[in-house]
Amino acid sequence: MTYKPKEEERPSLTKKTPLRIIPLGGCEEFGINIMCYQMNGKFIVVDAGAVFPDSSMLGVSSIIPHVKKSFKELGKLKAYIITHGHEDHIGALPFIYRVSPAPIYATPWTAELLKKKFIKYGVPTKDINVVQVEQKISCQPFTVEYVHMNHSIPDASSVFIRTPAGNAFHSGDFKIDRHPDNPLKINAKQINQISQVGVDVLLTDSTNAYKEGFTPSEYDIIKPLEKIMSSAPGRVFLATFSSNFARLKTIFDLCKALDKKLVVNGRSLQDCLEIGQRLGRIDEIEKTIVRVEQIRNYPHNKLVLLVSGTQGEERASLTRIATREHKQVKICETDIVLFSARAIPGNEKKILHVVELLKKQGAEVIQPDAKRQIHVSGHAHSEDIKYLTKRLKPRLYVPVHGSLSFLNRNKELVERTFKDMHTLQLDNGEVLEIKNGEYRKAHQRLEVERLYVDQDSNIPMKPHTLRDRLESGEHGYGCVSGVISRSSKKWIKGPEIEFFGVDEKPVMLRYGAKLSLQLKDELKDQNEYTQEQYKDYCQSFVRKAIFKKYKKRTKILSRIYVV
Ligand SMILES: [Zn+2]
Ligand SMILES: [Zn+2]
Repeated sequence: MTYKPKEEERPSLTKKTPLRIIPLGGCEEFGINIMCYQMNGKFIVVDAGAVFPDSSMLGVSSIIPHVKKSFKELGKLKAYIITHGHEDHIGALPFIYRVSPAPIYATPWTAELLKKKFIKYGVPTKDINVVQVEQKISCQPFTVEYVHMNHSIPDASSVFIRTPAGNAFHSGDFKIDRHPDNPLKINAKQINQISQVGVDVLLTDSTNAYKEGFTPSEYDIIKPLEKIMSSAPGRVFLATFSSNFARLKTIFDLCKALDKKLVVNGRSLQDCLEIGQRLGRIDEIEKTIVRVEQIRNYPHNKLVLLVSGTQGEERASLTRIATREHKQVKICETDIVLFSARAIPGNEKKILHVVELLKKQGAEVIQPDAKRQIHVSGHAHSEDIKYLTKRLKPRLYVPVHGSLSFLNRNKELVERTFKDMHTLQLDNGEVLEIKNGEYRKAHQRLEVERLYVDQDSNIPMKPHTLRDRLESGEHGYGCVSGVISRSSKKWIKGPEIEFFGVDEKPVMLRYGAKLSLQLKDELKDQNEYTQEQYKDYCQSFVRKAIFKKYKKRTKILSRIYVV
């Protein structure tokens, strides 16, 4: 089959229906992974992720894609296909599903996480369907086959999407864990079968495209952890990502083998172990796990504490221990604290603060480095990417999941390694069309919009609402109110002028009173104004005055009534 790019409009691509692939997030950025596959007015959505906001977005818990318009353009939604349970793949699903319901397919671990999330947001769980690896789901014209992958969360998978126009292999997050002790390696037979069916386009994770070699195995950290835990003079504190069940299981197994008791301190860590128990992946936990209230009953060298707070999060247990706010646990000099996690870019300062507090109280703090491998990534390094690409033999290669330079790097890596392979980079909203061995980028582009989820009400806000919130945070706000008589044109009440968050309260009270007199004076001869005009005038008067004095763009509410 020839595989050539199409620059020109040709009948084969325009009259007959192509498979269209459109990222609504996850290209040009980390997080918000969401990809649409569309054909014949029907479409499926692979993953629906969220991203955490930076600290400037006051009161926002996550940022999600706003898909209303694009979904309408794409036609009939047939299904949500979820690759795994990380936030950047499922975080937006409860919100999107609520507006656009459709059957949801996910592997067992992911389905458990989804149910929990849906219940938290009061969204019905009836559409969550559990699928097993190698299972094929038919949602015409798409057939979706799940393929097991190794990653830093259980039951992660790639999906192979077949359509009459062409086939796509969507990697999701993955790595190739070839460690001899790993019982769940990539299924070479299934991958081989898929490559024989034919992969028109392969879309892969770019997160670690800059890293050389193969990603180290989850099994590579067992020995270094065992060494530290077995020789520790006192307690060992371990901070790790709560979604990485394999890591939790490793620590649990080591405690068992070393005859130590494990304390699990952190809601999400407990949730993860609970899912493990429910799915029968960990047992006899009662003999090894003890409650935090019981730690006094054991000598320090018999205790391991699994704690939340790898990123220095304010409410996490490790942070509360470091700040001595934790009721049951106080740091002492024989304690060792291990960070079995990487620092997510942007969190370094917060982590350093916690580390320094712990050190000040005498604890030894160990973070992952070249010498001590106490954390491994779940994302494909360059050799993992090549390994998968070589076996699937795609005709076209498209890097996804990453900011622009990461997508670029992933693309170049494949171009260097596979000389004849076609590659293409997609931006969010761009449309890739595939049909009968040909591909092209369509002229059409879908709009990419975002919503900001409020951390208290969980209501997704549009950008202008967030802008209002941030502006009032930055510039404070004020209010001018009063009642004017229609007949006499005199103030019956007010005007009262108040400010919040501009300057000290007594100062603003005096300033408000002074402005009120000025405003009365200014409006004294104004006989022709309507209520609206009074409102506008008062608002602009106060706004201008505050800008002149404080150089602030303070938002002013105007409540003026003419009676
Ligand atoms: Zn992931
Ligand atoms: Zn991801």
